[in-house]
Amino acid sequence: MKNEMNNMRRTKIICTIGPASENENCVRDLIKEGMNVARINFSHCAYDEALNRVNILRAVRKEMGVPLAIMLDTKGPEVRMFGYSKPVLLAKGDTLYVESTEAQPEDIPVLPPEKRHFFTNLPRIDKLCQIGTRVLLQDGFIELEVTQLHGEWPGAVSLRVLNDGKLKDKAHLAIPGVQYPIPFMSEKDKKDIAFAVDNGFEYIALSFVRTAKDIADVREIIRGVRPDSPIKLIAKIEDKQALANLDDIIRDSNGIMVARGDLGIELPIEELPGLQKKIINSCYLAGKPVIVATQMLESMTEMTYPTRAEVTDIANAVLELTSSVMLSGETAKGAHPKRVVNMMGRIIDRTESSIDYHTLARITHDYVNRDEITNIMAYSVVNTAHDWNAKAIAVVTDSGIGARALSKFRPGVPIYAFTHHETLYHQLALNWGVVPFLMENPETLRFSEVAQKIIDHLLKQGAIENGEKLVFMASSPFGKRRPTNTIRCEVVGDTTFHEAT
Ligand code: PEP
Repeated sequence: MKNEMNNMRRTKIICTIGPASENENCVRDLIKEGMNVARINFSHCAYDEALNRVNILRAVRKEMGVPLAIMLDTKGPEVRMFGYSKPVLLAKGDTLYVESTEAQPEDIPVLPPEKRHFFTNLPRIDKLCQIGTRVLLQDGFIELEVTQLHGEWPGAVSLRVLNDGKLKDKAHLAIPGVQYPIPFMSEKDKKDIAFAVDNGFEYIALSFVRTAKDIADVREIIRGVRPDSPIKLIAKIEDKQALANLDDIIRDSNGIMVARGDLGIELPIEELPGLQKKIINSCYLAGKPVIVATQMLESMTEMTYPTRAEVTDIANAVLELTSSVMLSGETAKGAHPKRVVNMMGRIIDRTESSIDYHTLARITHDYVNRDEITNIMAYSVVNTAHDWNAKAIAVVTDSGIGARALSKFRPGVPIYAFTHHETLYHQLALNWGVVPFLMENPETLRFSEVAQKIIDHLLKQGAIENGEKLVFMASSPFGKRRPTNTIRCEVVGDTTFHEAT
């Protein structure tokens, strides 16, 4: 069996890998500090760069014998500004003329910046705005308002700049609350999805999912590339439409990302804290993993110490029971990737130690999915482990359903998840409280033999000691792909506790 002997950290850490971290030494450091998932952002990454990162990540996780999921994050439908070659300084009161264009970025003319004539890939911008509509550029740092609509094809608007700012290369343009008439997936996104499947990524994070159909469309593409691909899909919630369809998106995806960067532009920023809480809660009760992303330790991209607000932000996400927290530029291009993960881990550990898991598990009784015996049994296993004062839960899992169901009830003890599927072993690194182990295929073994192997392994790892209690959950006999049917309690080293079965 290969394993990770993690500490008791339950909330998982996702690190974006970029120029600052794409080397073996740094990846090793990030894993030692607690990285569980490595994200590669395809908004800023070519295929050769991505393959180099994947090879480094695979080599290090193998060398260290740890689970580490690799996630591709798609570029998604982006609305941008074009028509300038250098950053442009904008001053309050300036008027800009922004024209829609269908041309490819390389064919869009570059005009002198003093003309204040720019282009956007958003079709018929004039039809999406009214006089007075608020438009945001540069991730919301520059605010403008529409002063004139120019209705002749291809459509344009005049905008008054409301605050000084610098328009950087291909700046984002957002019209908060508007549904952009551009497809959810570009040709590049389709190619990137196929690339993730072909190259055995464990997860794809899908930018700007708006409906459950978007997820179905991606699954169709995946089936076309590899019908039996085990890749899992994380839907990034980034706008109003996604929020309106949240329950369906949670149901049809394998997990959710609260993409606070874009969400904070598309909606009034003061709505973010409430939305984050609501999304985490919906995912938690649905038993789906949820990621809180963006600017969690932004100041540490340059500084060596976080702001008080960042520390409190991470702690709040942990208290809200997020499955994981994500670092973006902090680890991709920041000055101190290792220090940042260490800081995030310290905040998580301290915050987790204040949570009353026993009460939490009991009050989730109303959210047991009565249609799934695995869910019903997972609730019982968690409460049995708490009531019996067990040291840990061990689950033998073929599909991951059992491990994820246990995670849903947020036990105060580790969930040691044993599987013989390597992809699943890495995927489970994302799930709250789950410590994945790779084991041999148990198909030909009896339950008691597998239980003994697991106990021996955990003893060797120092995860349990003789006399401590362990609660097992599994589907027995193994290899039949049946729903969970077995709960078994063991006192480690107490041979009188069970007859061999
Ligand atoms: C976000 O918007 O918060 C996010 C994670 O998405 P992106 O990949 O655009 O940073």
